[in-house]
Amino acid sequence: MDKNHFRYIIIGAGLAGATAAESIRERDPNGTILLIGAEEHLPYDRPSLTKQLWTGGRTVAQITLQDRSFYDRNGITVALGTRITGLDAGHKSLVDSQGRQYHYEKLLLAAGGSPQRLKIEGGGLEGVCYYRNLHDYLRLRAQAGPQRSAVIVGGGFIGSELAASLSVNKVDVTMVFPSPYLCRRVFPEPLGRAVQTVFRERGVNILAEDTPVSISRSKGGFLTRTRSGHEIDSDMVVAGIGIAPEVGLAQAAGLAVQDGVVVDEFLRTARSDIYAAGDLANFPSPALGRRLRIEHWDNARAQGLCAGRNMAGGREPYDYLPYFFSDLFGLGYEAVGEVDARLQTRSEWKKENETGVVYYLRDGQVRGAMMCNVWNKIPAARRLISSAEKAGSRDLAGVLG
Ligand SMILES: Cc1cc2nc3c(=O)[nH]c(=O)nc-3n(C[C@H](O)[C@H](O)[C@H](O)COP(=O)(O)OP(=O)(O)OC[C@H]3O[C@@H](n4cnc5c(N)ncnc54)[C@H](O)[C@@H]3O)c2cc1C
Repeated sequence: MDKNHFRYIIIGAGLAGATAAESIRERDPNGTILLIGAEEHLPYDRPSLTKQLWTGGRTVAQITLQDRSFYDRNGITVALGTRITGLDAGHKSLVDSQGRQYHYEKLLLAAGGSPQRLKIEGGGLEGVCYYRNLHDYLRLRAQAGPQRSAVIVGGGFIGSELAASLSVNKVDVTMVFPSPYLCRRVFPEPLGRAVQTVFRERGVNILAEDTPVSISRSKGGFLTRTRSGHEIDSDMVVAGIGIAPEVGLAQAAGLAVQDGVVVDEFLRTARSDIYAAGDLANFPSPALGRRLRIEHWDNARAQGLCAGRNMAGGREPYDYLPYFFSDLFGLGYEAVGEVDARLQTRSEWKKENETGVVYYLRDGQVRGAMMCNVWNKIPAARRLISSAEKAGSRDLAGVLG
């Protein structure tokens, strides 16, 4: 047999790819598996890059999902530092950036996403960091500390978590983002403004309703100019302004792509031998009655497991409702369902804008719930959302905490 022929090939050694390899092996003890990753590191836990690695909660060694011996023991070949550049779905073959060819019987696309870049003058300067991976963390970590400064572009969860973590590490942080308050896509306005006040009280300089217009080199660091006329000198500039799903290979191979790689309930593309999972998959959600693409840890993990089982002969629909989590200066959030601030929201606080639950409603039904410093309510929230019960004027106080 050709040594580059594998029964299963997984493109992307991230969370979805790694969990898929594990679940394939559980179902198929003998089929050859190749897990290919562009990064130099074994699959690791990405959320720690903005959280525990900065607070001392975990070390770099501790964020690795499985050590090398796990893959060896389970006969999973791992090719790191290897980027796939071509997919020929007709011939079931792949090619990497070094020109090496691989052949598969079943393929999983689990390449995640790449950071959106700032389309402004200086957005491509060397050293401007588009924060996504362990390499970015290590680079930033080496620069961070007292008397250092950072401009963070983006007021979503990644930007906010990183701002909090750098600030805890005594970096002088300025955030620049276009919305009036932090995490606007998820937080109702009063909560977003309250969290923003916490950030200011912790010393983070916030330039809301503003955007950078240029970045240039200055005094060994950077000078960021904003639309409203601010000029900020800083040692670091870090952008967390969203990702674009890695759909290039799928697109070139003629697979359907629409805000991600389109898959059915079994996470299978229109080609029965190619599956997709994680940040790049656009899948149907029975619980929410619509197609979704989710950029969260729990979704990548659960889809990887499900896709792996299906690739190895299973027929398991992906009907799971994943959750997401975040930590901002010790304020903890867990959310499930459609947590979209454009929906009608109802907040039930035990402590105003700190401890309680935000419910997100569409046509009177609870479609999502975010627990703020309230724990262990994810299963109950899932049941509430899946019941599709009309909340209407029902008192939601105390339903989840
Ligand atoms: C800094 C950060 C913090 C986060 N915090 C949270 C959080 O608090 N809560 C939460 O729910 N979610 C969080 N997330 C999101 C979560 O980590 C992602 O949803 C999850 O990692 C997605 O997993 P994935 O396997 O789909 O993609 P990824 O983890 O992105 O893995 C894909 C891998 O594929 C590789 N790859 C790409 N193209 C190729 C190619 N052509 N050939 C070979 N390899 C390739 C990439 O290099 C990457 O290693 C965070 C993400 C980031 C970046």
